[in-house]
Amino acid sequence: MKTKGRRRSTGIPRVIAIDGPAAAGKSTVGREIGARLGYPFLDTGAIYRAMTWTALHRGVDLSDEDALSDLAASLSIDVGPPNLDSIEPSTIFVDEVDVTRFLRQPEVEAAVSLVSRVAGVRKALVRVQRELAGRNAVVMAGRDIGTVVLPKADLKVYLVASVEERARRRFAELSALGLDVTEEEVLHDLRRRDRIDSERSVSPLRPAEDAIVLDTDGLTLEEVVQRLAELVEGTT
Ligand code: C5P
Repeated sequence: MKTKGRRRSTGIPRVIAIDGPAAAGKSTVGREIGARLGYPFLDTGAIYRAMTWTALHRGVDLSDEDALSDLAASLSIDVGPPNLDSIEPSTIFVDEVDVTRFLRQPEVEAAVSLVSRVAGVRKALVRVQRELAGRNAVVMAGRDIGTVVLPKADLKVYLVASVEERARRRFAELSALGLDVTEEEVLHDLRRRDRIDSERSVSPLRPAEDAIVLDTDGLTLEEVVQRLAELVEGTT
């Protein structure tokens, strides 16, 4: 595995940022590392998805940036422990309603990157993420955690994998959930989201300068977890 970057602190890191493109394994790896360390894990993609589902559900015009920004600023978003029957690492509440089961719907998948590129949406949701992180130890996963949300994180990891490998992983997950998609459709959607997430003007997807970049192609997620655990313990 190729690795570059550096650890910011000595000792066990308390604030860990995991960034990277869709389906790079951030959530699986972050959840496992959080469990090992006894830290909460927060998948910030779920927050953008919850916002997107709410916008769709309330009939907001997705090309109206002001309306999207106003909606994001007005929502009360909270996270709780996972539902037993869910693959999501947390339960997500919007205005006290559990929206977790809607987060992987194809309509949300198709719209989330468009909603996430709106500056006003990001401003409101970054505030939510910082409040949820508080001052405690945390593992947080997303696109801009190391660059924007928690720039002082003790350890920043940026996971990469080829889009084909990521499509294989995401297709397996979605099929296991019983969703009716083809691997070709998943690949197409990932390419599209990669492009929008990387090219947006606000907080584009990129590694922080001090992030450790892990190329996970050809590795199992267990091997990636092991590598990350070594970085946490400072043994590499
Ligand atoms: O990680 P996940 O695929 O669930 O994220 C869904 C979408 O949310 C991403 O494609 C991206 O557009 C947006 N996102 C973001 N910033 C984050 C996390 C997710 O823009 N920190």
